[in-house]
Amino acid sequence: MIRDDARLEEAKAKPIAEIAEQLHVSGLKRAGRELTGPCPECGGDDRFSINTAKGLYQCRKCGAKGDVIALVCWLRRCSLPEALTWLCGERQELSPAEIEERRRKDRLRREKADRQEARRRTQAIAEARAIWRAGLPAEDSPVRDYLALRGLTRERLPTMPRVLRYHPDLPYMAHSAEGWVEAHRGPAMLAVIQQPDGNGTAVHRTWFDLSRPRGKALILPPGGDEPLVVKKAWGSKKGAAIRLHTPAEPWDTLVIGEGIETTLTALVSGLFPGAAFWAGIDLGNIAGRMQQGKGLRYAGLPDLTDTEAFVPPPWVRELLLIEDGDSEPKMTRAKLQSGARRAMALVPGLSARVVPCPPGLDLNDVLMEDGNEPGPDL
Ligand SMILES: [Zn+2]
Repeated sequence: MIRDDARLEEAKAKPIAEIAEQLHVSGLKRAGRELTGPCPECGGDDRFSINTAKGLYQCRKCGAKGDVIALVCWLRRCSLPEALTWLCGERQELSPAEIEERRRKDRLRREKADRQEARRRTQAIAEARAIWRAGLPAEDSPVRDYLALRGLTRERLPTMPRVLRYHPDLPYMAHSAEGWVEAHRGPAMLAVIQQPDGNGTAVHRTWFDLSRPRGKALILPPGGDEPLVVKKAWGSKKGAAIRLHTPAEPWDTLVIGEGIETTLTALVSGLFPGAAFWAGIDLGNIAGRMQQGKGLRYAGLPDLTDTEAFVPPPWVRELLLIEDGDSEPKMTRAKLQSGARRAMALVPGLSARVVPCPPGLDLNDVLMEDGNEPGPDL
């Protein structure tokens, strides 16, 4: 029986990144706990990822996923016993005492990994808070000019959200062959990311460059020419949000957009009076974990066993999820639907719907088109 093969536990505990390397999976880049790159089966640029903390891999395109043992079966096209032999050597008949000893060691190894993960999280939260504390008031700072380049002028947005700050000289760290290096340093908009209890556990950073179109900074990786993302969160953001506007009076409508600019655009559009406006940071955070399986990729069904996913406060009666038209529409829609359904399942009396934007435009683009564009030549 494979189930009582003592090598199962031993194999599961193997570090997935090292095993992937032994299997010649190449071109992966580290981003936090994830390694991302081309799929060893179906190619692409960044569709394949390995979560080193959870020991799992996944391809967005061909749907391959699983743990380190499944990775071996998949790439060596072999059976489970063959994968175990490849990972751990030939099966040994063990005495009960030896089996017990192996289990004890596995338990210790798992506990150690959990402790390391907890330490990493505590450290990241402390670093996020230090970045936030180093920020200056956003009002009357270059953050004002950056938002104006995105159509969010002072006339439209008279009150600067308290959750935003300005950092004049924020380092941008990027991973390279020599480890983490400073790829850029410059002005940035900071946003505090708050857990349901209001605790700030992460910071969101948008590097900007007022001399460039729409203020978007151009940051290149060390020795590369593919621009890096200029919006990044640091800390623990799961289930949290950027609370851009929360009415002083009682409120029951919550508008969630993905990014800060989109959510602020929904706020100043005047289309949703009396509502709260929170940015969900990224689609994955808005969706939470989704049900996986054949035919479920775009079904938008939340996996309700994900207890850390974002859930609106219990008094919310209407949840509106803003759909950015500029991202991949099918997956965007599925993720927003997952967020909507999770909220409806977990908050009694709440109704939720996805509010679409014209294809190819985000709400912010719509605002830029109304003729009052204050920016430089584009
Ligand atoms: Zn693939």
